[in-house]
Amino acid sequence: MTFKFADIILPLAIRGRFTYLIPDEFSETIKQGKRVLVQFGNKKLYSGVVCRLHNDTPGIENIRPVKDVIDTSPVVNDIQLKHWQWISDYYMCSEGEVMKAAMPAAFFPEGETSVPVIEKYKPKEESFIKLASEFTEKKLNEILDSLSRAPKQYETLSAYLRLTGYASGMEIKPVRKSLLLKEAESSPGIIEVLSVKSILTAVSIEVGRLKNTENIPEPLRKLSEAQLITYNSICNAFKGKEITLLHGVTSSGKTEIYIHFIEEQLKKGKQVLYTLPEIALTSQIILRLKKHFGNVTGIYHSRFNDQERVEIWKKVADENPCTGYRLLLGVRSSIFLPFSNLGLVIIDEEHDGSYKQHDPAPRYHARDSAIILAGLHKAKTLLGSASPSVESYNNVVQGKYGFAVLKERYGLIKLPEIILANTREAYRKRLMVSHFTPELLHAVEEALGKNEQVILFQNRRGFSPYIECSECGWIPVCIQCAVNLTYHKGINKLVCHYCGFTTSLPSRCGSCNSTGMVTRGFGTEKIEDEIKIVFPSARVARMDQDTTRNKNAFHKIIRAFEEQRIDILIGTQMISKGLDFENLTVVGVLNADNLLNYPDFRAHERSFQLLEQVSGRAGRRQKQGKVIIQTADPANKIIRMVLRHDYLSMFKMQAEERKTFNYPPFCRMIRISLKHKDRAQLNNYAGILGGDLKTLFGKRILGPEYPLISRIQSWYIKTILIKIEKEISGAKSRQLILESIERLEMFKGASSLRIAIDVDPY
Ligand code: ADP
Ligand code: ZN
Ligand code: ZN
Repeated sequence: MTFKFADIILPLAIRGRFTYLIPDEFSETIKQGKRVLVQFGNKKLYSGVVCRLHNDTPGIENIRPVKDVIDTSPVVNDIQLKHWQWISDYYMCSEGEVMKAAMPAAFFPEGETSVPVIEKYKPKEESFIKLASEFTEKKLNEILDSLSRAPKQYETLSAYLRLTGYASGMEIKPVRKSLLLKEAESSPGIIEVLSVKSILTAVSIEVGRLKNTENIPEPLRKLSEAQLITYNSICNAFKGKEITLLHGVTSSGKTEIYIHFIEEQLKKGKQVLYTLPEIALTSQIILRLKKHFGNVTGIYHSRFNDQERVEIWKKVADENPCTGYRLLLGVRSSIFLPFSNLGLVIIDEEHDGSYKQHDPAPRYHARDSAIILAGLHKAKTLLGSASPSVESYNNVVQGKYGFAVLKERYGLIKLPEIILANTREAYRKRLMVSHFTPELLHAVEEALGKNEQVILFQNRRGFSPYIECSECGWIPVCIQCAVNLTYHKGINKLVCHYCGFTTSLPSRCGSCNSTGMVTRGFGTEKIEDEIKIVFPSARVARMDQDTTRNKNAFHKIIRAFEEQRIDILIGTQMISKGLDFENLTVVGVLNADNLLNYPDFRAHERSFQLLEQVSGRAGRRQKQGKVIIQTADPANKIIRMVLRHDYLSMFKMQAEERKTFNYPPFCRMIRISLKHKDRAQLNNYAGILGGDLKTLFGKRILGPEYPLISRIQSWYIKTILIKIEKEISGAKSRQLILESIERLEMFKGASSLRIAIDVDPY
């Protein structure tokens, strides 16, 4: 059947699909999921993806024709298209925005004005050398003899024969030019001479950018008795439920259990997606997976360049079990890869906030979107955490999810002992050494004395969060954002953590001209500096955004710590999750208070999770670990719960609070933020939208108001929060909100507004 029209998703933030005419010349080749080239607007050509072919004449005139079909076979499958549509509906963005987040940028030759399209993706080729023809044994010997007075040439040919083990009658194998040069200690000139003599010849061969390992797969480890019981209860839960939550304490062997489920799926010929919230975590787990599953295991995260991403994409799409990926480990964006045959999705550390993308659109939650993806594949979802999110645990309570628990650590090692160190008291008694309590220093000293390792956690990077005039209290702020500038000592600059603005350190106060500028508070950089002073012979390293900008930085730091070339590692939340170090026995939390006092309805839940996670790094092998939590408020309820590793009390308290004050998961939440460069105009438009929404939603509308950070990159911001009862249709509410926004957009001058909708903004 041939079709007249194609609906195309274009990489634009405009909601809706775009219909084009299919010219006869493409009626055979155009297919759903292929990229096509079309004109949009006056001049610009775009590549987009065909999402539907049909014969329903659209109600508009002058339908433009498709200009070119780019692909020979589809690059996006049917399930992906459905998934994009769900994300675009639920998160209230365009399918084009989803597509842009989903596909490697190299798939979109943007701003291209030529037909046919020039592909941005280029297969990687390397120079190889091979024999120019199939020489007989006799002929080869003659050649070698003839080269006896040209030792370099002789050696180059011999090296080639050595490397390939060539014998007459065998297939001619190419050898990497670089390898041959090294082996023969030869030069390109020599190879050139040999090729002029028609002895050797050069060829370009396509090589992948992705690394393969050569190891022989190891059998799986045997599950412990407790693990086996948990494994079986997950199997049972899956009999009745599509989604199961595994609540397993840190180091109980959740990963080990996942591995057993993966094996089962791979044996059935199914694909598995395994997600983690942070790149830093992938580095250890990928080795564990590759050990068992070898080269069918792929990895995906933002540190891959665009060309590599295309290759990963192709390997996931490749259904050949020998060459394609069957198991993919990745961070949140990996849910967009072209899986064709998922049997299981594993979401590890399911509670983690990094699964949510806040900016730009699509503002999706990867856990929730992955659950939808699994549903489209009729696959199961296994959520895992040592401190599940309130919403997931609530789904268990409600009977929506299956549940399994694993309460003991592998090897029956006790959960770490938690010691609270009262900073207020220590300051009062003048016992603090810079930012360290005696309890913390004592524990670190003890660990170092036994050649054990230490992690110090501080959730702020840089040297100090702000500097201040000691005379008048003046604080330098960003010129573009309503935030204090953070002092970075390494580069000796003040940096804005919201926009990246950088400026030199003022020698005088900008207000009273005094020279008494002092640093306030502390970040990871300062802790690094000061711990080095206290323990001068310890080997200290730091892991945060600033020290991990290079592609392999995470990997290097983690390796160094594993190999015990680092004694004390200081870091932000990057080091708090999922990592498994044999010799790490002491964890210090420098300041638990700034976690707890964060103004957000999830602050307590998040603090509990973070403290539980970071504690979980300590004492994972031979013996119990020790965690020192520094706080000015040791009586704090959450801290008391962490002390007892008491997840259930935390859940109950949070659930109670949220029911009372109407917060998720007991209501839906949508946040609209409006940005404008002009404050008065912003107020005006925010007022209009707020008023309109109030007539529709009444008291469910909160705001408009200025958020905590009311200006970023010169844009003033106001937000409107919508809280909707669970009983009311989400789809209908979203529709009403979109219509209201469309009405606002009709106002003269409203085009200078930026409007962002965030569904489940937490
Ligand atoms: P979790 O994911 O729950 O934090 P892991 O799977 O990382 O726990 O397990 C913690 C440690 O115990 C790891 O070093 C792991 O190799 C080891 N371990 C767990 N289960 C087993 C097992 N069944 N056999 C051997 N080692 C195990
Ligand atoms: Zn001053
Ligand atoms: Zn800024």
